Amino acid sequence: MSKIAILTSGGDAPGLNACIRAVVRAAIFHGLKIIGIHRGYDGIIEGDFFEMDAASVSNIIQRGGTILKSSRSERFKTPEGRETAFQQLKKAGVEAVIVIGGDGSLVGAKYFTATYPIPWIGIPKTIDNDISGTDYAIGFDTASNTAMNAIDNIRDTAESHNRIYFVEVMGRNSGSIAYKTGISVGAEAIYIPETNTDLQHLFKIFESGWSRKKSSLIVVVAEGDEAGGAFAISKKVKEKFPQYDTAVCILGHVQRGGSPTCADRVLASRLGVATIDALLSGQKNIMVGEVKEEILYTPLENVLKRQLKITPAMTELIDILSI
Ligand code: ATP
Repeated sequence: MSKIAILTSGGDAPGLNACIRAVVRAAIFHGLKIIGIHRGYDGIIEGDFFEMDAASVSNIIQRGGTILKSSRSERFKTPEGRETAFQQLKKAGVEAVIVIGGDGSLVGAKYFTATYPIPWIGIPKTIDNDISGTDYAIGFDTASNTAMNAIDNIRDTAESHNRIYFVEVMGRNSGSIAYKTGISVGAEAIYIPETNTDLQHLFKIFESGWSRKKSSLIVVVAEGDEAGGAFAISKKVKEKFPQYDTAVCILGHVQRGGSPTCADRVLASRLGVATIDALLSGQKNIMVGEVKEEILYTPLENVLKRQLKITPAMTELIDILSI
């Protein structure tokens, strides 16, 4: 093998650049040529390729976003789109593809490799941390820390005004950011898609918190919570307790950007180098993950979307800490 390609696909996440850097440097270290593909799967279809060298990834380990750009490609979902992608890769002499992406991107890689002989290796990134085969996906730690820092700031305002804040964090189908962030900011309650939203329980927390003269309350809500998100929950609380001063803050896309944390930079670097090791040792059509600090290779067809498991102990933790 002498020439490989790398791309980023799906929504961006902090740590993508650190991972691109690691893949490029490890490839060059081992004497491989490496082609960068712009704009994810759309970029393969359009042949938007360029050769990368060690200097092309200088000074990016600390930067959010992706120097390769990303996209969601409807064309790649079709057999015709994947055929065009194959022809473009063949024309450029690409012998293996590395994709840094979420579960959708990895499904796309699985379909491609089921038909075409070019091997692919996937590296998991998603701020939702909902991919099996790895303890953490690139981006989750940074997104959680960004949300935590933002809510710490909101707590200052909440305290100053004796106000209740409903803070919505990312997670259409996953409560991972909401759960971890909620614990880390001392939230009075956390609502996520994986559990039922019990508003009577929330009302009791408010009554007991206010009766012992708490000067602020923070409720962290994942955007996909079945009660309808932070605005919907806030409305119900206001109907029950019109005397409370309430406010809603939607954190939104700030959680996707920013400089990656130390944990995300190290994870991204390690997975990037492990990917080249995997290719050189003849592995193909796998995802490279890290489980209990060991590198784990999972065949692409076995990679699944993972759901956060909420145990009774996790629920109890929130209840104990918010009295
Ligand atoms: P994020 O975690 O940000 O959602 P993702 O990789 O899951 O990242 P998706 O938009 O789901 O993001 O997928 C990225 C791309 O992967 C899609 O735009 C599409 O090109 C490709 N893809 C997703 N699902 C399939 C599929 N079933 N068949 C072929 N390609 C797919």
